[in-house]
Amino acid sequence: MPFRLSRTPFGLPYGLLLWGLGTLLWLLVLAVELKTPGKLRWNPFSFWLQRDGLAAAGFLLLLMVCAFLRRRSKAYAPTLAEDGLMVMIILVFPIEVTVTLLGIAGILESVSQQAERVQRSLPVGGWYVVLGELVFQGGVTAFIGVTGSTVEQAGYLHEWHTDPQYGLRELVTIPLIYLSVFVMRVSISFLYLWVRGISLTVFVQEARARQSVVTFLAEFATVVLSVMIAVVYTQPGFLPVFSLCAVLVALVALLSKQGEAAERQQRTIAEMKILVGVGRALSNPAQTRRELFKTLYEEGRALFRADSLAVYLFPQDSIKPQVLEWQSVAVNRPQAERRGIEAQAQPSGQWQSRSSTSEHEIPRPEVDALGLAEWCIQHKQALRISDVEREAGSYGYRWLTERLPYRSWMGVPLEAEKKALGVISVASHQARAFSEQDEEMLRALGQQLVGALEKARLYELATVDGLTGLLNARTVRAKLTEVFAKTLAANGQMAVLMFDIDHFKKVNDTYGHEVGNEVLQHLAKMVRGKLRDADIAGRYGGEEFIVILPSTPVQGARDVAERLRRQIETRPVPTAAGDLRITASFGVAALPSSAATTPDRLVELADKALYASKRNGRNQVTVASQPESSLPAEHR
Ligand code: GH3
Ligand code: MG
Ligand code: MG
Repeated sequence: MPFRLSRTPFGLPYGLLLWGLGTLLWLLVLAVELKTPGKLRWNPFSFWLQRDGLAAAGFLLLLMVCAFLRRRSKAYAPTLAEDGLMVMIILVFPIEVTVTLLGIAGILESVSQQAERVQRSLPVGGWYVVLGELVFQGGVTAFIGVTGSTVEQAGYLHEWHTDPQYGLRELVTIPLIYLSVFVMRVSISFLYLWVRGISLTVFVQEARARQSVVTFLAEFATVVLSVMIAVVYTQPGFLPVFSLCAVLVALVALLSKQGEAAERQQRTIAEMKILVGVGRALSNPAQTRRELFKTLYEEGRALFRADSLAVYLFPQDSIKPQVLEWQSVAVNRPQAERRGIEAQAQPSGQWQSRSSTSEHEIPRPEVDALGLAEWCIQHKQALRISDVEREAGSYGYRWLTERLPYRSWMGVPLEAEKKALGVISVASHQARAFSEQDEEMLRALGQQLVGALEKARLYELATVDGLTGLLNARTVRAKLTEVFAKTLAANGQMAVLMFDIDHFKKVNDTYGHEVGNEVLQHLAKMVRGKLRDADIAGRYGGEEFIVILPSTPVQGARDVAERLRRQIETRPVPTAAGDLRITASFGVAALPSSAATTPDRLVELADKALYASKRNGRNQVTVASQPESSLPAEHR
């Protein structure tokens, strides 16, 4: 069982243990060296001047490069290469040189680690800890060298570097050398972590998460590569060089495969994160279907890397199953608003669609995909088309999909209690854009959507005015309270504008209540279309409307009101009784104001201003008068 030495990694016990272990390792190295036949006959000063000296310097440099890369990148390739280099050093050099080389490499790496910690202003501990780390890390790598060399000697390979001879025995010995290096590395890393209070289970979990078959194979290939390099070093020739190239190619292939696997795994994790995020966004109970679709469209497209996302719904009050109501679509243009589309199947099998807003026409390829959605409903099955051009014919919808500008399309039925509600679909300009996993994900998203739609419908019933689709008075008041508090807290600006149709009674009296309703509906749509997304519009009373303009100064609010007034005045309203000309009167009140101490007071001021407009002859904008002292300097 691991015991936690200290909560800080640099306590005295930690330092003592480092010193103890480091010294022990060095003593072991010395003991093993003394037992070898060479008995430290090696003279380092003469050695460094020879060819082997250059090679040793080269190896040292490579080891340092690996150590550097290991810290820079998250890939495992540098670690693999480091193991390979160690095996190579063991094979190429006699034990004395191996131990010295690896010892120096260990100490240098420790120095670079400490330097990096200092650079990133992480704690490094006292001088005795830093020195202990150097002794320990140098001892570790030197001991790894001794272990490998001992295995090499056990396999009678020690003469290799002077008199190369290859045989079957080497085939067994080389993997054993590698294995000894690997085991030493792992056990010493564990020892090190254990000393710092990291438990065995955490370590094993970490190691398991990193090690896959591919990683292991790649690591082994690195070792084979190193052996090949060692062979080429000691006995140049065509066959060794050729084999070296072959192993190199295999290694590159393995590493890229490993990279792919890692990337796939990361993508899955990223997708899961998005899915959870979308789920959370969809489950927000306080949103309208419009807001819901907006969230769904933005997040869902990212999730599937799709060019489009659409939802087709059976209208709830319809008994004709062929009719689909297409709820949410924007195509390739982030600024394009979603718009309601009604599409109806004609007896001929052709679809006719009517856009509810005729302003800014946008291409609507989802209409062309209605037939595919219908297929999903009729067969109660998901439909995944990898290449529309090729596969459309086989589903019998050639006449539809020929016009579809997408190459991949995938739809999943939306079901609640075995009843089909509609279809959710994604599309992409690329062929084979969606996998089986994507289909499962779309199904999961669809299930979340079904629940969210019901919640949104209930929310709309409670907050949206049935006739105009604007917020109802109660909700607007709640929003006003929110915006008011935020504005006060931020010492900011905001405005409220109210307007009332002039002589509306006459419209009702002359053309009837229904036509009056049409006017109200048209007016609401027009106003909503002229406002920013952040503005809040509501129906305050019978034919009285309110607009909250957050972060808007009084002058800006007056301009908005004036723009709306002119729009109403100049654009006749198309109704069943023909085009009608109407006008409206406006009142504006804004913050900061010493008179508007509460949201209700602000509305009252706007209302008073509105009635001033009425008194002064209608069809005009009045701004609530401000007491002098409350105006900011630039407005005086
Ligand atoms: P003004 O505002 O210019 O003083 O004259 P007005 O004729 O518009 O007067 P007022 O605002 O008092 O009239 C409100 C009328 O609006 C009364 C009612 O017939 C009509 N109205 C209120 N709610 C609705 C509605 O939901 N539908 C229809 N068609 N008419 C409504
Ligand atoms: Mg009126
Ligand atoms: Mg009125």
